[in-house]
Amino acid sequence: MRLLVTGAAGFIGSHYVRTLLDGDRPGFTDTRVTVLDALTYAGDRTNLPERHPRLTFVHGDICDLPLLLDLLPGHDAVVHFAAESHVDRSLVDASAFIRANVTGTEALLHACLRTGVQRVVHVSTDEVYGSIERGSWTEEWPLVPNSPYAASKAASDLVALSYVRSHGLDLSVTRCSNNYGPYQHVEKLIPAFTTRLLERQPVPLYGDGSHSREWVHVSDHCDGVHLVLTRGRSGEVYNIGGGDERTNRDVAGALLDLCGAPPTLLGYVADRKGHDQRYSLDDTKIREQLGYAPRIAFADGLAQTVAWYREHPERWRHSPHTRPVGAAVSTAEQGRAFDNTGTR
Ligand code: NAD
Repeated sequence: MRLLVTGAAGFIGSHYVRTLLDGDRPGFTDTRVTVLDALTYAGDRTNLPERHPRLTFVHGDICDLPLLLDLLPGHDAVVHFAAESHVDRSLVDASAFIRANVTGTEALLHACLRTGVQRVVHVSTDEVYGSIERGSWTEEWPLVPNSPYAASKAASDLVALSYVRSHGLDLSVTRCSNNYGPYQHVEKLIPAFTTRLLERQPVPLYGDGSHSREWVHVSDHCDGVHLVLTRGRSGEVYNIGGGDERTNRDVAGALLDLCGAPPTLLGYVADRKGHDQRYSLDDTKIREQLGYAPRIAFADGLAQTVAWYREHPERWRHSPHTRPVGAAVSTAEQGRAFDNTGTR
């Protein structure tokens, strides 16, 4: 079996590939894995084992059709994680999001079709559903994305499903809630707050901090993606939830405790544009049809995550995201650094 995983130098894809290479997935212990990643600011080659006999790393762009047509033959399946993923960046410039998430997905699926790839999982997000005041979204809920990031993912979902209906590609879509865990880029909420609090730097929350998210450990998300790869039905969408719903204020409070930081470090700033108030997934379908069950409770997973950042300062200490407020930052870094006070 040969599996191509896109975007696996990033947070979630690298976790998935590490589990494949560690032999943690029965029936996949001999699988050869090709990672295709453009190594944008969010991709880090060191998230993957440097030399593993079953891993081939290809530095390349999912928009590059000739590269895809050259690379894909011989692969049985594709798990597609590659994307521009940070909401705040999409509010500043959405063009990279449309290019990678929509054009890139279309190029990848076109190449899968031309080269006879047998199975594809397109990894998407709960953000495509917009914001929900009460109750939870099922997979049939209309797509009402509010940020350019969410809109680009919703567009990519529709393109992906059109390849099933138009061309008969064997493809399923997953939509997961907010992920957390080790190796996440420090621009995202939990790593940004953790690393700043460990350095006794202030952390700014958007608005009044009442925005509510459902959290899922990256390991549970990857288990859900793998279930969909192996047992999911073509043309179906599967929500992957964590069941642990928290306000951003609650998450910040838990991080203050875990980092042993004083509450005075928590501040509030003007709300993010178009900030979704609440996300909540109904994931009955994947639980009942595929046997998905998240295993890591948020309190335990968060404590492990904070411990990991505490034990790996070399991975974040020199990042512009964790500099003291007001510290000198080069122009190039300013382009890369975003103060994340939201969740993704
Ligand atoms: P990430 O930003 O950590 O990683 C994205 C990876 O994609 C990076 O390694 C980057 O270099 C690569 N990439 C970007 N553009 C590319 C291109 N044009 N060609 C090849 N590679 C490219 O993101 P993540 O948090 O690991 O998210 C992975 C996927 O999961 C995304 O599709 C995202 O929408 C989805 N998702 C994320 C979350 C979350 O909470 N992080 C939740 C649900 C779904």
